[in-house]
Amino acid sequence: MFVGVGASRVRDLFKKAKDNAPCIIFIDEIDAVGRQRGAGIGGGNDEREQTLNQLLTEMDGFEGNTGIIIIAATNRPDVLDSALLRPGRFDRQVTVDAPDIKGRLEVLQVHARNKKLDASVSLDAIARRTPGFTGADLANLLNEAAILTARRRKEAITLLEIDDAVDRVVAGMEGTPLVDSKSKRLIAYHEIGHALVGTLLKDHDPVQKVTLIPRGQAQGLTWFMPNEEQGLISRSQLKARITGALGGRAAEEVIFGPAEVTTGAGGDLQQLSGMARQMVTRFGMSDLGPLSLESQQGEVFLGRDWTTRSEYSESIACRIDAQVRAIAEECYDNAKKIIREHRSVTDRLVDLLIEKETIDGEEFRQIVAEYTVVPDKSQFVPQL
Ligand code: ZN
Repeated sequence: MFVGVGASRVRDLFKKAKDNAPCIIFIDEIDAVGRQRGAGIGGGNDEREQTLNQLLTEMDGFEGNTGIIIIAATNRPDVLDSALLRPGRFDRQVTVDAPDIKGRLEVLQVHARNKKLDASVSLDAIARRTPGFTGADLANLLNEAAILTARRRKEAITLLEIDDAVDRVVAGMEGTPLVDSKSKRLIAYHEIGHALVGTLLKDHDPVQKVTLIPRGQAQGLTWFMPNEEQGLISRSQLKARITGALGGRAAEEVIFGPAEVTTGAGGDLQQLSGMARQMVTRFGMSDLGPLSLESQQGEVFLGRDWTTRSEYSESIACRIDAQVRAIAEECYDNAKKIIREHRSVTDRLVDLLIEKETIDGEEFRQIVAEYTVVPDKSQFVPQL
């Protein structure tokens, strides 16, 4: 009801709350008024500061137990004025992270209520497939699935629509498949490279499927079963991810030679460079030792940290670059070695991928297992 701001509105709000006590006041996007004072890029904002001051005054003015609880929400708790967070004001913070598997199941149950799901659809399975999805993503996912169902003139949402909707939410719209050509073969080798390296590394997430159907910007895609526990990642897992990300380029080079490698690996390289750099500068996982050399930025618009402080000398900067390069090179050599040593299964998988366009993870592992030992990755499968 109280759209817009202003000190008098805040006064009115609290007056009304006191009349109606016990009650709860909920303020959404509190950072709009509660941002750190005196930080303004582009000058101070008197109107906003007055509103904030009024809010601070009102929150002090509670006698004993007035029966009013104030809850506020923000995506940027770090930019809030410190006075707002003092005891007696917003002194308890509840972080609402992306839901875990149980949370996702419950969110899905809410959004599935008004949709017709086929009996074959299990919300459990969807929850399992969607680590990292927020509540809004899950709602969007079921809506997309419903749209697809209507478009395909089906009576109820089946697993097929759910699967397509997940792909669409994560990777964008589906494009038309490529016609058979040299570049299709190259893309197939690139994707099989990712999938094979990922499958044979013990610490890599298992492959969910490989596909040559373009989506969004990508010409082909390898999907990995995302890990539920995003919290702590070990050094060997990071290295496995870097090696897996290099699998595509490695396959291109091993099969077609260094002159034929393509721009297709651009995104992969960007991703792994970031990971390798963080290993050195933030996680102390290199020969430079356990030092944090760069902090995560993100306060720029507060005007406090205009310049990023580099916490090291020029000579350390050179050593950081050398360490990052060493990690990338070690992983690249490893990826090329894996492709070279498994050339025949690579060729067979590429032929199959070109023929079928999509290979799912189970089939992929079975084929690889005919040639070599596939590491057991049951620890990656989330349990409900
Ligand atoms: Zn790639």
